[in-house]
Amino acid sequence: MSQAAARASVADGGGFPLDDFLADVAGIEVSTELTDRRRRSRDYFWYSPILYQHLKDKVADVIVTPRDESEVMRVAAACARHHIPLTVRGGATGNYGQCVPLLGGVVLDMARLDRIEWQKPGMVRVQAGAKLFDIDAATRPNGWELRMHPSTKHMSQIGGFVAGGSGGVGSVTFGGMREPGNIVAARIVTLESEPRVIELRGDAAQKISRAYGTTGIITALEMPLAPAQPWIDVMVAFDDFIDGVRFAHAIALADGIVKKLLSPVEWPLPQHFSAFRSACPEGRSLLSAMIGEMSLESFETLLAATGGTITYRAPHEDVPGKAPLYEHAWNHTTLQVLRTDRGVTYLQCLYPHDGLVEAVEAVREKFGGGEVLQHLEFIRLNGLMTASGIPVVRYSTAERLYEIIRGFESCGVMIANPHVVTLEDGSRYKRVDADQLGFKQEVDPMGLLNPGKMRSFVPLGDGGAA
Ligand SMILES: Cc1cc2nc3c(=O)[nH]c(=O)nc-3n(C[C@H](O)[C@H](O)[C@H](O)COP(=O)(O)OP(=O)(O)OC[C@H]3O[C@@H](n4cnc5c(N)ncnc54)[C@H](O)[C@@H]3O)c2cc1C
Repeated sequence: MSQAAARASVADGGGFPLDDFLADVAGIEVSTELTDRRRRSRDYFWYSPILYQHLKDKVADVIVTPRDESEVMRVAAACARHHIPLTVRGGATGNYGQCVPLLGGVVLDMARLDRIEWQKPGMVRVQAGAKLFDIDAATRPNGWELRMHPSTKHMSQIGGFVAGGSGGVGSVTFGGMREPGNIVAARIVTLESEPRVIELRGDAAQKISRAYGTTGIITALEMPLAPAQPWIDVMVAFDDFIDGVRFAHAIALADGIVKKLLSPVEWPLPQHFSAFRSACPEGRSLLSAMIGEMSLESFETLLAATGGTITYRAPHEDVPGKAPLYEHAWNHTTLQVLRTDRGVTYLQCLYPHDGLVEAVEAVREKFGGGEVLQHLEFIRLNGLMTASGIPVVRYSTAERLYEIIRGFESCGVMIANPHVVTLEDGSRYKRVDADQLGFKQEVDPMGLLNPGKMRSFVPLGDGGAA
């Protein structure tokens, strides 16, 4: 079958040569059972009522769970031979259907490639399916920890974070994942009839960063580490949200204060923080923070000049089964609300580094009344301190959501739209890096890796049939 014909038949629900594929991957763990295929074809796209309608019925034809890189290569070769789409699945905590197989085909579950290959001071090399939680647990006893992790540290994998995430807890110091130096090296498998293994080192590793698995199957990563700190979790209550934002900004800019999280949250969002309810006084906005123990006194000294009151302070404890403070920040804030109120959704913003507080105030003025509730995550970007934000938005219609997006933009706040599935329309803000697009031609010439997610890509010599 020609490549274009195979794609068309898959898109039409016509399937693909499953038996031939299964024969090629004999001995590798596969699942064709419908309930399992449905379960492993989803992520957290349901945060978005728009994506939910679009993605709820997408399902892979087969789930394959390789044990090592040689099995990944066999699966890649079989997909290339039979022109079958392949979508990689990590921890499946992505928010925009990043690991949902839009055209069906194979979902490649990376959970078994979870080995830590080696570690040395300041660096760790791991297989891509290793969970962030397990990596930290292995490096902390040696005095090192991941520079940053998403608030989904307990569930997500290092390969999924690099291919799908942007930054998180720790980004206030180390910037986003795309900041030079935040990925040391990546090893990938290409999607060709004779797959190759390529080691991308230094800046070249950015070719797989936040490409949603469209530019190669990552099998291993070398990541830089930070000295492990005794972190103190702190919550501070403020009568006015803006006072919390100002204080967090001052701490963010204080280079001598060691911090990992600065997350001001507007009331009434904290009323959904059930694990910390007693630390969330009625009517008061909050700052959730992770501060290095050696910096706590300085933090408190600066706080004394504000109207803030510490409502919670305890050594950071990250153990399975207990929600840590950081699971009330980043996109976990939305999740805490969604647990009891399914009428909300969210946006992803980047506030301007100059005029940040003014932009927060402008948004509040425009959307006062509870339709939009802000929380910020301070983050260093290109050496400048700024904040991303993941406001919780009461959902009415798609039209209103887009009006709200325009409202944010008119306040000077950039939106990365989380209600779309393509790189261009969402996180890359209407473009894909030329180096990623060019690299895709090299490593996935047939466009079989996570098809539908990089819409600028047209396979060469295929007459644009994608
Ligand atoms: C409650 C909640 C909070 C969140 N907080 C944050 C946050 O703080 N910061 C943040 O950046 N994101 C956040 N996210 C989004 C998501 O959790 C992160 O991006 C996470 O790191 C994704 O990892 P994962 O293993 O779950 O990846 P998946 O969701 O499984 O995959 C993400 C993308 O990467 C691709 N992929 C996965 N593994 C590989 C591989 N080995 N090779 C090639 N491609 C691969 C997939 O195809 C997919 O396109 C949050 C999501 C939720 C639901």
